[in-house]
Amino acid sequence: MVHELYRREILSTSPEQTAAIGVWLGQVLPPRTCVALDGDLGAGKTTLTRGIGAGLGSYPVSSPSFTLHDLHEGGRLPLSHCDAWMEGRELSFLEDGGSEWLVSDGVAVVEWAERVKKWLPSPRMSIRIGHQSESQRSLEFTVLGSQEPLDGLAKELVDLLAKLPEGGALLPEGFQ
Ligand code: ADP
Ligand code: MG
Repeated sequence: MVHELYRREILSTSPEQTAAIGVWLGQVLPPRTCVALDGDLGAGKTTLTRGIGAGLGSYPVSSPSFTLHDLHEGGRLPLSHCDAWMEGRELSFLEDGGSEWLVSDGVAVVEWAERVKKWLPSPRMSIRIGHQSESQRSLEFTVLGSQEPLDGLAKELVDLLAKLPEGGALLPEGFQ
């Protein structure tokens, strides 16, 4: 049984701010973290992931919508970026190795996580992005895992999120 262990919501007022929140996450997330992203098309899942890539090691991260999966190595930790977009792709996603991509020694980020929920590791960090207006997005962070006592990764994630600054970190020079 997966429980909600912690929840925090942040409002982002620009794509740069969403990316900067990603940069902060990329700088601090511990190994073996799965970040499960949900939100409609255009919510900002890839924008946040690009920030996470920059925070981990300045990788240029693009949308893997057509490739299902990209692996970026060479930074602080490897980044496994998956996209479970489109109903019915779950099967090819999993046949192509999806259940391994979701569990990484580094950081695994999955867009449209709800679609592959059954295979997501526990504990994990879930981020639901809500479309508030043209430039405003709500970012709802939840740490999921087994019930207390909290230890290991779940505790690290809860402690980190409590320290997450509203505006994230600075964007690296040349970030676009
Ligand atoms: P998704 O991967 O969820 O489909 P993308 O990150 O590809 O979404 O696209 C998000 C779009 O929304 C971009 O065009 C971006 O410029 C725009 N946008 C506007 N405001 C924000 C915001 N506060 N955070 C993130 N993206 C935003
Ligand atoms: Mg996307």
